Amino acid sequence: MITKQVCISLVALFAAMSTLGGCVAADVDDGDPIDEDGEVAEGLSFSGCSSAQTTKINQHIADALQKTKKSFSYLGTDSKSQKRFNQYFGPRTSAAQSQVTAMLKQIRNKLKNKSFAVSCNFAQNNCGPGVVARGGDDHLDLCPPYFAGSDADAGATVVHEVSHMLGTDDTGCGPKHLPEALNGAYCYEGFVYNDLWGRWDND
Ligand SMILES: [Zn+2]
Repeated sequence: MITKQVCISLVALFAAMSTLGGCVAADVDDGDPIDEDGEVAEGLSFSGCSSAQTTKINQHIADALQKTKKSFSYLGTDSKSQKRFNQYFGPRTSAAQSQVTAMLKQIRNKLKNKSFAVSCNFAQNNCGPGVVARGGDDHLDLCPPYFAGSDADAGATVVHEVSHMLGTDDTGCGPKHLPEALNGAYCYEGFVYNDLWGRWDND
């Protein structure tokens, strides 16, 4: 079993300086037999979420899936891809590339299959100060800041928490944080959304 993890996201603090440019590359077929269409989050179970919240969460999950799929196009050998990889995962060795690719596929499939439960029961979700969401054991437990931030921040949080369901930890990212960055929730969140440039003190 995966231990439930506490995630105090710093995304909101950086929202003002983040931009969402750069996601212009075409989707890359990596060979996995998944349906590329119909990404409506209808398979999720929701608890305590209003209709408006449910609509938002579905949008965030769909966006997280789309961007995760797009992120495969940044696993290439061109300089832009290498820079992006290095920012979050350090040097693009074949071993690192394999590990990151495998985790991204798991995240993508989890978002695609939507086999987890979403809770908006703030009182039960241990929503302490600064807690945006918690993920683990196929649960995505949300707290008020999740709904107060931008949709992009929320989508990035979804990637972060889904990665926790798959066993990632909260670590630093980039060359100074190896090997743990290769299993870091912030690193996958950052690589997929590319909205965290400068958050970490990387070379
Ligand atoms: Zn976390």
